[in-house]
Amino acid sequence: MRAILEVRNLAKAFGAFQVLEDVAFQVQKGEIVGLLGPNGSGKSTLLNIISGFIAPDKGTVMLDGRDVTSVPTFRIVNEGLARTFQLPIMPQKMSVLEVAMAADTTMHGVLPTLFRGAGFCKAERDTRERAMQLLDELLLTRVMHLPASAISGGQKKLLGIVCALMARPRLLMLDEPTAGVHPNLRQDIVRALHRLNDQGMTLVIVEHDMHFIREACNRCIVLDQGHIVASCKPEELASNERVVQAYLGA
Ligand code: ADP
Ligand code: MG
Repeated sequence: MRAILEVRNLAKAFGAFQVLEDVAFQVQKGEIVGLLGPNGSGKSTLLNIISGFIAPDKGTVMLDGRDVTSVPTFRIVNEGLARTFQLPIMPQKMSVLEVAMAADTTMHGVLPTLFRGAGFCKAERDTRERAMQLLDELLLTRVMHLPASAISGGQKKLLGIVCALMARPRLLMLDEPTAGVHPNLRQDIVRALHRLNDQGMTLVIVEHDMHFIREACNRCIVLDQGHIVASCKPEELASNERVVQAYLGA
């Protein structure tokens, strides 16, 4: 079976600091993969490269068998890949619902603006409905009319997930989805992610919370010192020597 995501020989340095040296892994369609590694091991950098925010020095990113290395982010989104951010930044003046609606990439561009006829109104209605449905799934209905800048850090994370989902991705990558989220909400996020997975979505999740990883993921890959050092089931992490070494800094 062809991998939905394949990363080959990826390397990236910031100045003299070689963050990623030779990173290679595959993700199969339908998997929920946890991406782990100590602080500063390059997890966010890896997501930034895969999603086209920064270019690698070396290596290839293949999405569904197509080379998307250094393809700009807005194009990669149209190829079916979306991601969320470790620290989401929200517009000051827009409401939660407006931010979610603005994330619908099919609503942008010159054509829809020029032809603001019946078709456009229907498209806008559909966008609004889908945004409201996703806000409901991610438990944000109660705050949907508040300014997006006024909601809690955890709620901003959830809104980030909603925005990523508005683009209808086949592959969704999440950067620390539960950091700063109230513990009561974590189970709800796991449930929402499993529901998306049941609908066919593939997920890559950067996360530190081991409980969350065990509940959410089928497989984990571990990044350390510029390489993938392990690929195993969440329950096998604690007995994997290279994983233990990575976290103890040995
Ligand atoms: P992680 O997400 O695993 O904690 P990051 O990918 O954020 O790690 O960062 C890996 C390393 O690269 C860190 O040492 C960080 O300081 C450095 N780094 C990340 N982005 C930049 C950048 N734009 N310029 C310089 N250094 C960076
Ligand atoms: Mg990070």
